[in-house]
Parts: sequence; C-alpha cells; structure tokens
Amino acid sequence: MNTIDQESAVLNDLAKIRSAFPILHQQVNGKPLIYFDNAASNQKPISVIQALEHYYKHDHSNIHRGLHTLAERATVAYEESRKAAASFINATESDEIIFTKGTTEGINLIASTFGRKFLVPGDEILITTMEHHSNIVPWQMLCEEKGLELKVLPLLDNGEANWSQLNSMLSDRTKIVSIVHASNSLGTINPIKEIGEKAHKVGAIMVVDGAQAAAHLDIDVQHLNCDFYAFSSHKMYGPTGVGILYGKRKWLEAMPPYQGGGEMIKEVSFDQTTYSDIPHKFEAGTPNIADVVAFKTAIEFIDRIGKKAIIKHENLLLDYASKALTRIDGFRIIGTAPEKVGVISFVLEGIHHFDLGIMLDAKGIAVRTGHHCTQPLMECYGIEGTVRVSFAIYNTIEEIDILVKSLESIVNRLRS
Ligand code: PMP
Repeated sequence: MNTIDQESAVLNDLAKIRSAFPILHQQVNGKPLIYFDNAASNQKPISVIQALEHYYKHDHSNIHRGLHTLAERATVAYEESRKAAASFINATESDEIIFTKGTTEGINLIASTFGRKFLVPGDEILITTMEHHSNIVPWQMLCEEKGLELKVLPLLDNGEANWSQLNSMLSDRTKIVSIVHASNSLGTINPIKEIGEKAHKVGAIMVVDGAQAAAHLDIDVQHLNCDFYAFSSHKMYGPTGVGILYGKRKWLEAMPPYQGGGEMIKEVSFDQTTYSDIPHKFEAGTPNIADVVAFKTAIEFIDRIGKKAIIKHENLLLDYASKALTRIDGFRIIGTAPEKVGVISFVLEGIHHFDLGIMLDAKGIAVRTGHHCTQPLMECYGIEGTVRVSFAIYNTIEEIDILVKSLESIVNRLRS
C-alpha cells in the first residue's frame, strides 16, 4: 500500500481498525464504551493479545543463557523486538535500546547512572513547568543527593514553554536538559531538536520524555540528535510493563550499570566483577520477556497504519473536538499551543472535574480527571485538576459528538 492508500484506509475504514480492538466492543454502564483515556494507556489490538498468547503457548523460556531450542527462540524474539524498537525511532543500532519497565524507569535510570557519575555539586538540571512527575521527581532526588540545582522554565498562558527565556537559563553549569516531547496534560509539542542544539552548545545532554509522543508523532532520534529518549509500550498499543530507553552509545558505554545481578555481567568473582557490553549491562535479572516480545507486534500495528495517517486522523479529531467542545457554556481548554497532540484538558465553570468524570462514566465515556501527575503545572494554572480527553487511532467523530451532547446535558441539568 502506498502512503495515500494508507491514509484513506484509516479515514475511510475506521470500522476495520476498531474491529481489531476487542475491548472497544462492550457496553459500560449500559452504553457503548467510548474510550477517551488514551494518554493514560491505550487499548491493545488482537494481534498484540495473540502475540502474548502465542509466546506463552509456544516459545517461553528464560533468555540469553540457555542452549536449548526454546531458550534460543525466546532470545531471538526478545532481540527482534529490540531491533524493531531501534528502527521505530531510527536509532543507529539496536544496542542503543534498553528495555525497562516504562518511561519512569528510563528517566530514573539516567538519573541514577549518568547523574550519579557525571554531575557534581553546583551543577544544574533544566526542565519545564509542564513536566510529568516522572520527569521531575527523579531529578529532585538526584539534586538532593548531590547538591545540584533544578531549574524550571516557565510557561506562557497557552501552554507553550517560554522558550525566549531558555538562553538565559542555560549556562556552563547546566549538565542535563530534560523535556517532555508532548505534554500529557496540555498536548503541547515541544521543539526538541532546537532545544537540544542549545543544550549541546553549553555542554549539557538532552533527555526526552517521549511517553506521549511515541504513538502519535514521527520519532527520529538521529534527526532530533537527543542523547536519551524514553517511552512506554503501553501508550502505543503494546503491553504494560515495557519501557524503551534509547541512549547514544557513547553515553551508555560511559555510564555505570543501573542494577547489579544476573545477565548484566561478563564475569563475577569476589575480588572483581566485569560488566556486559551494552545494552545487557543495563538489563539485570530476568526481564519482562513476553511483553517485550509482543511489543514488536504493537510496533508492526502502528507501522501498518503509518504515522502519517495516524497524525492526520488524530489532528482531525483534535480540531473537531476543540471547536465542538468550546461551544459549551463555561468551557475552557487548558493548553492551546499551536502544535499539539490529541489531548484536550478542560475545566467547566462551576462543576468539579471529578463530578464530570463520574457523570461521563455513567454514560459509558472514559475520561481522566485530576492533576494527571503534573501537579506543578496545575498549580501554575491555579487549578486543582482538569478533565482530560485524549485520542487514539480508533476514536471517531461520532464519539466526539456523543461526548459533546453528554457534556451539554450534564451542564444543563446541573445549572438548571
Ligand atoms: N511522562 C509522560 C508525559 C507521561 O504521560 C507518562 C505516563 N502518564 C509518563 C511520563 C510515565 O510513563 P510510565 O507510567 O509508563 O512510566
């Protein structure tokens, strides 16, 4: 299929895509399920579910150490996923891919290894106000341990970072710049390549939290020229419990191991232990083999549809929903940056976001409510939380129409 055919396949054949997701075809509270909580975790196509089943029915064994056939099959399948992950983000080589539990563990790994080894008291780490707690707390912990300073770039009202302040916040003390590629609360897409160039000029490394970008944007780590890129399988139609950390070879080789144990060693004696080469140096113990193996099927699912078609479809949903929802009395979107992924966070005047979440759930509509693990961001907007609607490839315009009607009826009922 060429790209244009692929695009029409999504736009004209949503029913076929939806039919690949068994979970979507159910009633929740007596209504057909509408799943708009994709930024928290999206649903899994049947191919991924079957890949898990197939692995456990036919191929399971522990990896890397065995000589028997199943050990070999499991090892090959696990390493094939590494290759698929590398090619998905255009890494130079699959050795630059480390499997973790998720984005959170990826960032913690960088803080615990790179951070502990290379940062000294007085050094600085720069983040923005829109970061997820997993791109704040690991750095705070490191700062406390090593006497570093965490600097936070403020936002503009529309939810873009105030990049005009970037130059003045960077200095030769800045050692790590760690920024979210796409914000889970605002949808804002950040200009990673440009920020990275500035970070590199002062000698800092560029770390990217790609949790919300991997399934929704084209990712090319060589083009971005970032030093690390962390993301999670469960937000990209893949299994839970699998994270992917890309790191440039030169850093991974220079960094000490993250955890000690089996799998990450060359030789152990009581006098001296030598470590495996990358990536195994960072994968101590038995990893989450089955989910890593099935993650490759999730990548194949995304690749079959194509990022271009995905972006086009999700942008269509974002535009349509942003306009339709804004017509509701008292509705306000938090995060109106010009470049956004399919995330709409909103507040409705006079109605608590938790109440809205519960009332929408009663109508079969799943949305997320609260601070979305971005409490400092909420504080910056002077709110406690929002309702967040987030899209995936299987969402439809009809679902948005039902959401708008449901919100209107809730508003009318509560305000009458
Ligand atoms: N960063 C962002 C922007 C996220 O949205 C999330 C998940 N909500 C994370 C990091 C953490 O991802 P995980 O829970 O998969 O480790």
